Amino acid sequence: MDKTKKGYNRRDFLTTIGSAAAAGLLAKVPLGAQMTPVGAKAAEPGPKPLTRVLGKTGIRVPIVSMGVMNADNPALVKRSFEMGIRHFDTAWGYQKGRNEEMVGTVLKELNVREQAVIATKVPPGRPEMMDQMGDKLVEEEFLARFDQSLARLQTGRVEILYVHNISDPKMLMRPGILSAVDKLKKAKKALFIGFSTHMNLAECIEAAVPMGRFDVILTAINFSMANDTALLAAMAKAAKAGIGLVAMKTQCRQAWAKESGAAGPEYHEGTVWHSALLKWALRLESVATAIPGYTTFQQLETDWPVAFNLDYTPEEAKFLASPGVQLALGGVCRQCGGCVGSCPQGVDVPALLRAHMYAADYGNFMEMRRALDEIGAGRGLQACAGCRECTAACVRGVQIARRLGELQAIFA
Ligand code: SF4
Ligand code: SF4
Repeated sequence: MDKTKKGYNRRDFLTTIGSAAAAGLLAKVPLGAQMTPVGAKAAEPGPKPLTRVLGKTGIRVPIVSMGVMNADNPALVKRSFEMGIRHFDTAWGYQKGRNEEMVGTVLKELNVREQAVIATKVPPGRPEMMDQMGDKLVEEEFLARFDQSLARLQTGRVEILYVHNISDPKMLMRPGILSAVDKLKKAKKALFIGFSTHMNLAECIEAAVPMGRFDVILTAINFSMANDTALLAAMAKAAKAGIGLVAMKTQCRQAWAKESGAAGPEYHEGTVWHSALLKWALRLESVATAIPGYTTFQQLETDWPVAFNLDYTPEEAKFLASPGVQLALGGVCRQCGGCVGSCPQGVDVPALLRAHMYAADYGNFMEMRRALDEIGAGRGLQACAGCRECTAACVRGVQIARRLGELQAIFA
């Protein structure tokens, strides 16, 4: 486990934000100089964030990065860089491309492209559509989308390119995808290749290790998965093999937990649930960095200090040990796929619950729409509209019928 800085407080943090520029790969620009008004005395060097290397890529970044997906304020991206965050995660599909444009514009305006690590994700297409597409077409589509991403990001390369949303290991082996990413890596348009996964996580990660083709994996991982020994073992194996693991969905906030009363106000008020859950994920030795999807300056100021000290405060330890919180987290959909096949209409229940999460928990209705659009024909919400009683069953206690009812109400 990393050494942590003791005695660090918010005041120190606010007065020493410039010091984070010293993070390995990012050493070229003295960020403190950017933060110091002309004529003012430069700040003393202060605490530095903990950094880790992303597997064999050699890229060293602070353990807290920015998941840009839900953010639409360029000032928040700018402030994140100024505070010391260096790794920005976006995707071809986020906000119909505006998310990538925002990241590209901010880095250009700050003139810091060479100090930043950009990760973007390109979706290969729906599996059932890909079944009908030849590999040549799959490759062409992927390359065309990636070129769009580069143009929006105003750059000639990204450090990390993920194949977006892999839920079936077979997709990792699709020749059209592999030939596309190989070409991009060879052309140095994508320095490192990875994939993101929301479902069948352990299976996908396990499959990737012997392939030796992927440098980085972006995986969902949070406290609700603490007993998922298959996933934790797969992550450890991948890390040991030199694959850089990036954690997403670390804070798993669930709006419904409030209404259910399963967890007390500590789950919804204050900041302890953000910092406690983010620390839990980052204390996993297999995880190199996390991409919390903060959308406000207040959330940034909660998440970023976690990069300096992974020790739990007494409040955080109490939060994680709370039976109410554990009960609430037990009802979080972990996208395990255990309900697949339980709907007689063949509905893609995990995908619908992911769309529900985007809308109800993140308030990101555009991403909800995109997630719904990605569901195969006949397997989406329309099929539920004519259903008198939901019989889909979760192996872990998620109230599927209730969540789908909420999704229908949101979507209507
Ligand atoms: S609803 Fe339950 S079974 Fe289905 S993916 Fe979510 S956690 Fe797994
Ligand atoms: S509401 Fe009906 S169609 Fe929709 S998931 Fe449940 S059982 Fe399937």
